[in-house]
Amino acid sequence: MGEFDLIARHFTRPVPPGGAAVLGVGDDCALLAPRPGMHLAVSSDMLVEGRHFFPDVDPEALGHKALAVNLSDLAACGARPLAFTLALALPQADDAWLAAFARGLLRLADAHGCALVGGDTTRGPLNICITVLGEVPAGQALLRSGARADEDIWVSGSLGDARAALCALQGQAALPPQLLQAARQRLERPTPRVALGQALRGIASSALDVSDGLLGDLGHILRASGVGACIDTSRTIELIAIGAQAASAGTHFDPEFLHQCTLAGGDDYELLFTAPAAARAAVQAAAQGCGTPVARIGRTEAQPGLRLVDGQGRAVPGRFASFDHFA
Ligand code: ADP
Ligand code: MG
Repeated sequence: MGEFDLIARHFTRPVPPGGAAVLGVGDDCALLAPRPGMHLAVSSDMLVEGRHFFPDVDPEALGHKALAVNLSDLAACGARPLAFTLALALPQADDAWLAAFARGLLRLADAHGCALVGGDTTRGPLNICITVLGEVPAGQALLRSGARADEDIWVSGSLGDARAALCALQGQAALPPQLLQAARQRLERPTPRVALGQALRGIASSALDVSDGLLGDLGHILRASGVGACIDTSRTIELIAIGAQAASAGTHFDPEFLHQCTLAGGDDYELLFTAPAAARAAVQAAAQGCGTPVARIGRTEAQPGLRLVDGQGRAVPGRFASFDHFA
């Protein structure tokens, strides 16, 4: 199978009628027709074998995740997905592997009406780079820089399960098989919070998606907005799904492990956002409208810096480093 057969077979489909894409795969460029009054939101994410995934990962899950992490960036800006490109380096053209990869990728793409409109294919160590394009009404994108002091800090969904799965797969933690399976789903098939991001436009003052760990990513909002924050770790520890599942199954985890996973885990792909206290009902309504739970985990403060407290408001020493590729 040559390069062009491979593209034709696995990555070429007609562009859906009525969408933003007017010309898809096959020419030198794809063509998109942005709507008037909209800004284009653009983001790229690269997944590298050995760094972001194990060599033997299920290719269907990998296809899903490669697009999911990109859609998560659009969600964080409140943008609606339009289209994406796929740059792929492959050690060999393995038809069964490619079919499974494309299945995972395109199923998620279809679920979000996000058309694959182009890319590049080359031989090399397995590396997947996706660029997504979305649209957001001009002036309404959710940014990292909009938080003000004395606002609520919210996070969607669950935190830390992906990290717990990674620890278990690397032999650093023991998880009962059922819990590992649930946690592994979160690691390998994250759900980008695309509907929630759009629903939070005009409500959230700032937002980002949690990819490298809650505290480190919160630090990006704090720096960009020039505020500090206080996080209640008795709330964040409640957000790891396997924690509740373990409790009901009679398994006990070291709270230190659960704090590490929830505060500094990474690979969560949840939305972390701020909103004024007056917007609490609006936040809850937005979350309910898209079926994604949200939890209030702290407050922003005028005083710069990030403080952690327990349920009684007592200071908790912060020693939870986020992931940094070059640290
Ligand atoms: P060019 O040489 O002009 O860069 P290519 O020969 O690399 O174009 O690609 C041919 C067509 O196939 C282009 O439309 C390109 O966008 C598309 N394409 C290449 N690789 C992929 C891929 N992995 N997924 C989707 N489209 C692809
Ligand atoms: Mg090319």
